[in-house]
Amino acid sequence: MSTESQLRADIVEVGRRMYARGYTASNDGNISVRLGSARLLMTPKSVCKGFMTPDMMCITDLDGRKLQGDRDPSSEMLMHLEVYRQRPDVAAVVHAHPPTATGFAVAGIPLDRAVLAEVIATLGSIPIAEYATPSTQELPDAVRKYIKAHDGMLLANHGALTVGADLFGAYYKMETVEHFAKISLVARMLGRENLIAREEVLRLQELRGTYGINAPAPICADETTAAAVDPASCQVVQAPAGGGARLVPDVLPPSRAAEISARFGVASADGDGEIRLTYRELSELIEDAIRNLR
Ligand SMILES: [Zn+2]
Repeated sequence: MSTESQLRADIVEVGRRMYARGYTASNDGNISVRLGSARLLMTPKSVCKGFMTPDMMCITDLDGRKLQGDRDPSSEMLMHLEVYRQRPDVAAVVHAHPPTATGFAVAGIPLDRAVLAEVIATLGSIPIAEYATPSTQELPDAVRKYIKAHDGMLLANHGALTVGADLFGAYYKMETVEHFAKISLVARMLGRENLIAREEVLRLQELRGTYGINAPAPICADETTAAAVDPASCQVVQAPAGGGARLVPDVLPPSRAAEISARFGVASADGDGEIRLTYRELSELIEDAIRNLR
């Protein structure tokens, strides 16, 4: 177990990284860690996460009573308390507003398709908790439905939440959620998301054991059972049966494909709608998309 002074320094560092990567603006976001079995160390209300110092943190009990600190605890403390109540295995909670993932949360599109092997093996699916007024009891109520089975979720019209067995584990999941959102956005802009087959998703689930990934719930990839499944007991991943069939049709209309082709002077290689871009061109498209999300 890390010492309190190390945990204070780690929260400062995670806050600095989140702000530097644009996951939070102004005073957005909050971070907490367990301090022993009965206390929490938490970021304070109304500070920029990019410029914190170790002495700013608050210590509370598991009911949110402040035990130590000059400042008041985070305005989203109720959400953090709910996570620790529901998940004894969780020792750290990170909340931020990363722009691409939050764009999906605003659009009401969960990140639950079988697209990236590493995301399936680690987070499984990333659902959207229903909209709730920030800082009120509504938010922990919305999070409760999903937190038992998920280490990462989007918060409708708000942001994202990740949890872990330690602070950096929770923070890296926030990076994964945002990275996945960017990749998914680009794939959708290019017109297709080829999904990983259900059989492969189940193989990835087995790899969790091999790699010692502690997922809070198994993956459900069969839509007949997934539709009826409780989000508190299962990670619902959309994956087609039978070797790479596409679950969703192309979403890029021909006019948009032509526009992208013209902009970068590239042609669809063999009339199959596939457009090949350089890394720089791809980066421009991502930046465009992020600007549009803001
Ligand atoms: Zn927030």
